[in-house]
Amino acid sequence: MGYNPDYEFAPRENPRGVGAHPHKGFETVTIAYKGKIEHKDSRGNHGIIGEGDVQWMTAGSGIMHQEHHEKEFSKKGGLFQMVQIWVNLPAKNKETTPHYQDLPFKDMTKVLLKNEGGTVNVIAGEYLGQKGVATTFSPVNLFNAYLNKGTKAEFSFPNSYNTALLVVEGNVKVNGQQNVSKDTFAMFENDAAETFYLEAQDENSIVLIMSGEPLNEPIFHYGPFVMNSEAQIIKAFEEYQSGKFG
Ligand code: MN
Repeated sequence: MGYNPDYEFAPRENPRGVGAHPHKGFETVTIAYKGKIEHKDSRGNHGIIGEGDVQWMTAGSGIMHQEHHEKEFSKKGGLFQMVQIWVNLPAKNKETTPHYQDLPFKDMTKVLLKNEGGTVNVIAGEYLGQKGVATTFSPVNLFNAYLNKGTKAEFSFPNSYNTALLVVEGNVKVNGQQNVSKDTFAMFENDAAETFYLEAQDENSIVLIMSGEPLNEPIFHYGPFVMNSEAQIIKAFEEYQSGKFG
């Protein structure tokens, strides 16, 4: 996971960012909290995401993309805060056709918490029986929880899943014990209880909650590629160098 904590960018004509680069064998999930980012890829997909929006790109068999600050945001400057998660693909899906899901905040499944306590946005997976719109290749739960001060919210995932949270704004207490403050990432033990609860200590706390079923397959990660073997990584570089990613 990559995380850009709050950073104030000065105005600039030429948008900052990363020029065309390849990916293969996994998915990039970009979640915007502050600022705006613009995406273009070799499959002709184009998207701009701002506060609360998510972009889910399946690199699959291979794609080229660029990620830059959106032009108007760049010109004006301002606070920027983003998360990018790399979701691995099961071995059988590594060569899937590249795909792009635009998941704007407005279309996201929103679960209202009791007593006006806040909202849980279901990006992927399911919360309290409500499903997110993103399609995934293995079970993944990804939520943005917007919690008012004093709100308790409970979450439950199989304890075989890898489960973690990132406090994006504010401060929460986990299971009535541990405080996790802004810009802190916390990972649960796999033998922890299946259910945990968060209690917001600050008004307008935002917590990104991630939980996924482990693939239990060999991982070979090299630069922009995530494959299952060294031979597949070498092949990925050959494909990229011969222009197969577009
Ligand atoms: Mn990238």
